[in-house]
Amino acid sequence: MHIPKTGTDRETLFERLEAYRSHDMHWQDGRTFAYIYDAGREAMEVGKEAYKRFLTENGLDPTAFPSLLRFENEVVSMIATHLGGGPEAVGTFTSGGTESIILACKSARDHARASRPEIFGQGRAPELILPVTAHAAFHKAAHYLGLKVVAVPVDPLTFKADVAAVRAAITDGTALIVGSAPSYAHGVIDPIAELAAVAAEHGVLMHVDACVGGFLLPYWRRLGEPVPAFDLSVPGVTSLSVDLHKYGFCPKGASLVLYNDANLREKQAFACAQWSGYSVINMAVQSSKTGGPLAAAWAVLNFLGDAGYLEIARQMLAGTRALVAGIEAVDGLRLLARPDFCMVSVASDEVSVYHVVDEMAARGWTIQAQFAFQTSPANIHFSLAPANAARVEEMLADLRQAVQAARALPSGQMAAGVAAMFEGVDLTALDPSVFAELLAMGGLTGTELPERMAPINEVLDALPRPVCEVLLKGFLNQLFRQPQQP
Ligand SMILES: *Cc1c(COP(=O)(O)O)cnc(C)c1O
Repeated sequence: MHIPKTGTDRETLFERLEAYRSHDMHWQDGRTFAYIYDAGREAMEVGKEAYKRFLTENGLDPTAFPSLLRFENEVVSMIATHLGGGPEAVGTFTSGGTESIILACKSARDHARASRPEIFGQGRAPELILPVTAHAAFHKAAHYLGLKVVAVPVDPLTFKADVAAVRAAITDGTALIVGSAPSYAHGVIDPIAELAAVAAEHGVLMHVDACVGGFLLPYWRRLGEPVPAFDLSVPGVTSLSVDLHKYGFCPKGASLVLYNDANLREKQAFACAQWSGYSVINMAVQSSKTGGPLAAAWAVLNFLGDAGYLEIARQMLAGTRALVAGIEAVDGLRLLARPDFCMVSVASDEVSVYHVVDEMAARGWTIQAQFAFQTSPANIHFSLAPANAARVEEMLADLRQAVQAARALPSGQMAAGVAAMFEGVDLTALDPSVFAELLAMGGLTGTELPERMAPINEVLDALPRPVCEVLLKGFLNQLFRQPQQP
């Protein structure tokens, strides 16, 4: 494409913008149990307005825009206080959970570099101990920062971190131990206090990934739920990540990484005065950045207030109870784990969960499929948002039908064929054409996703994990291409 020779008028332009999104997911009607965290029209409008007003301001230099510095210090203070931090707690506003996690891992790495330089080099790298349920963002952080992932199993029934396994994985090279509150896939809270005690005993740092649920959990506790200790007040916890753009209901691009000790946070910072331009000093990954998400987060927090969040939390808790009880009553499905949060994973010993997801899509519901991994079988994931809470019964009625419909559909043929293809194959020497063949087996030929995803999901699920990763990267590499001119 070329940049158009002449400009386009506003009206035409916005018509075209809207036309482009005609195939986007329609989440507004509460039929999407994923992706969107929405506290209703009013809060959304407040967030959008604040976002728009500060969209043009630049967070590059906090001295040039003291408004942004003030928003950030106030947001960090409110959330640190909400999550057990004392007056010494510090934090950084980031673009999302992934950035918060990368920064916490960088702090841990550079803390290790200062205190234990001998664990770097000569084939060694600082180690990150991850229960296998920890979010993929930690693997990404390890990939970017040169850390070694030490994956440890979780309890096969509760899917919570196994404290003894974590203890056994600690070496003189351990830089950071991670626990989730809660984990995304199963919605369960790891035994944070026990993990942090083990970390403290060994003089190792401990990060709590409270990205998805950390904001809402204190409200659930106030509503009488038995939420275990998980926050900055737990002895041994040294950092914590919490997203405001999930169950804090702020517009996207809003997360925090928090610390009890400003000395550790300093390890997160980057400064460069060795080039011919302005000195670069950043706490986070981005340099020039819009003030929009920060102003919006500040505005939504102040708009809803503690009472507003408590009321939302009450609805979410009621919705979760209805969802869990309803799923337990569906013939053919079983709860994979007893959730501690509004995220529910559901397995089946009788039907293919991939067919159930497709059948639900055909009935207008978006729910996520999760691949099998170690002791966790293939399952269906529900993230409940306020808009879903009112639709739980309606969804369950369709879910019962979807399971019945799935019983009639064939499945499992792919797995055997795919597994056979990889017997004795050297994964590093795979020919790219193998991947085209694999995608075709699942019915994927162009870049258009097929209507039914079960065949491709079965193929992906049956592949060895590293092969699956190569395939997914290849898919993405195909997806982002220059548009073909008609
Ligand atoms: C969503 C999530 C993340 C990653 O956050 P992004 O905002 O998507 O970058 C990390 N940990 C948990 C538990 C999450 O649910």
